[in-house]
Amino acid sequence: MSSTPAAPADADARRAVKPVICYPNETLPVPDLALYHRAREGAVKTGEVRVPPRDAACFEVPAGHFFRITSIEGPQVGDLNLWNKNDLSERFYSGKTRALHGTHITAGERMWTSFPHLRPMATVVADTLGWYGIDDFGGSVHDLIGTRCDPYTGNLLAGSQYHHCCHSNLTRALADHLGVSTAEAEPHVHDVLNVFMCTGFTRDTGQYFMKASPVRPGDYLEFFAEIDLLGSLSACPGGDCSAEHSSDTAACYPMLVEVFAPLEGALGDWKSPPPNGYDRSHGCK
Ligand SMILES: [Zn+2]
Repeated sequence: MSSTPAAPADADARRAVKPVICYPNETLPVPDLALYHRAREGAVKTGEVRVPPRDAACFEVPAGHFFRITSIEGPQVGDLNLWNKNDLSERFYSGKTRALHGTHITAGERMWTSFPHLRPMATVVADTLGWYGIDDFGGSVHDLIGTRCDPYTGNLLAGSQYHHCCHSNLTRALADHLGVSTAEAEPHVHDVLNVFMCTGFTRDTGQYFMKASPVRPGDYLEFFAEIDLLGSLSACPGGDCSAEHSSDTAACYPMLVEVFAPLEGALGDWKSPPPNGYDRSHGCK
């Protein structure tokens, strides 16, 4: 049996050491939000996709265009996957985005792609829940902590066979969009941005928690596409994630994704960011 080891004499002093930010982000390239906002003003809607509850849908956004995710009929959390439309191996990297920006994302922050690319793929340009900040429980909105609800964890913990977790929804939607089998589509599904989801870690036990999303119909999160994007959004079976997921118990609502094209010339000499500049030699000659 293990027991808690005795604390050393200088335990308090060790605990009192001040934390250091792992990745100071002052040197991150800063998006030109003023340019994006000017370009957005004259932008024209080019399409929309309605995501059914407990299901997912794909959408495409050319580089330099905008997409907006809106809560439409009731509080609902959405699990978002993004890929480089021209190379699905380049996809959203939730862990590195979290390391760079923190546990939640808001206006002015970006979604970053996987290695070896590590470049911004989408920049948040508007967040109607930006007022929420961090609540007294340590909770905040637009979660980068959670992975995505999936049938494997449900099976591990409860022996269940549930087919409308976000992982399965995203898999079906991608298979439909690409015209491939679910077996071929599934490996492309990755850890998500949990749009509108309110989460944090408990102070006492360090456990991941969720609570009812503060989102209301009309709230939206809007992005500027830095590269050509293929997106997929799942309206999570957890609904507003106030109680449980991985079942048909929670009230669930559809979500809306709209795409907007800026007017010709509105972005000036803006260019899609190049892949990361590391030479990839990894110390070998
Ligand atoms: Zn989910």
